[in-house]
Amino acid sequence: MNITVNRTSTPKEKPWGKTLGFGNYFTDHMFVMDYTEGKGWHDARIVPFENLSLSPAAMVFHYAQEMFEGMKAYKTADGEALLFRPQKNIERMNRTNERLCIPQIDPDDALEAIKAIVDADRDWIPDGEGTSLYIRPFIIATDPHLGVRPAKNYIFCIILSPVGAYYPEGINPVKIYVEDEYVRAVKGGIGFAKAGGNYAASLRAQKKAYDLGYTQVLWLDGVEREYIDEVGTMNVFFVIDGELITPALEGSILPGVTRDSVINLAKSFGIKVTERKLSINEVYAAAKAGKLDEAFGSGTAAVISPMGELNRDGDIIIINDGKIGPLSQKLYDTLTDIQWGRAEDKFGWTVKV
Ligand SMILES: *Cc1c(COP(=O)(O)O)cnc(C)c1O
Repeated sequence: MNITVNRTSTPKEKPWGKTLGFGNYFTDHMFVMDYTEGKGWHDARIVPFENLSLSPAAMVFHYAQEMFEGMKAYKTADGEALLFRPQKNIERMNRTNERLCIPQIDPDDALEAIKAIVDADRDWIPDGEGTSLYIRPFIIATDPHLGVRPAKNYIFCIILSPVGAYYPEGINPVKIYVEDEYVRAVKGGIGFAKAGGNYAASLRAQKKAYDLGYTQVLWLDGVEREYIDEVGTMNVFFVIDGELITPALEGSILPGVTRDSVINLAKSFGIKVTERKLSINEVYAAAKAGKLDEAFGSGTAAVISPMGELNRDGDIIIINDGKIGPLSQKLYDTLTDIQWGRAEDKFGWTVKV
């Protein structure tokens, strides 16, 4: 793929010394590529970060034909930039595209694009403890048209945002509200796809939990409100009687790269890992029998996010005295050591830019 590069003549001041947070600052450049029916993907380019110009009739605004991805570039102690399992994100991108009738992207081209934009804004990878450069690829339908059908024109864009440490004050487990009214996804829907529409559908429940003093929602299945799907925007794991259990991928769950990494790492530690249906009743019964050892969410942003409390309609359980458990801590330490290049990468997960 030929990528043209047009560097900005007015670089921005970098936000070093400021509180980065998540998704507040954007780098100097972005990657853009167009799709036209009959012509395919074309005009791959790196251009200054700037507003897109779209018709108000662009299909993405009306029927949400949109997909996105999320990954990070990490700066090592030697100043190298590492990506973490980017091929997994690219495979997932094409599974999402397939579900949303968005054209496929050649996996090699997608990786080349990610590497090229990270390389162009390499100076923007922060080097404070726990900080990284968040990478947000996304595709939108751009035809100016109000009929409902798959679009014929798309933009693939990659933007970058330097982000702060997720846990600047150490890992504190969060309080979770078990949601039994609203659902995030159903089998046959788009729950397994990384699509903006899933997030729009989740906001009402997230707000409800927040207003009740909870940080995240534990999502139950959309049919019986019985089986656990995910937690907030993360995959979910429970340690019951020494066994690590996570809901199986059956269509309503997003197949997280962190989820897959946690499963592989835990197995390498000699822990029994099971992917299966897990009901909220089983989790409560385990907690009441003193067998619920740990519970945590997994995702690119937080890596591991321990859960300290569950509230199901006023029935509250406290997990591991509200503290992070030993397996959660070990998984967090091992994964972050691999991501920042501090530990040997036995699985071959990192990719140098
Ligand atoms: C992105 C995402 C995850 C986590 O996926 P990772 O690849 O581990 O970052 C989990 N659940 C939902 C709904 C997501 O959108």
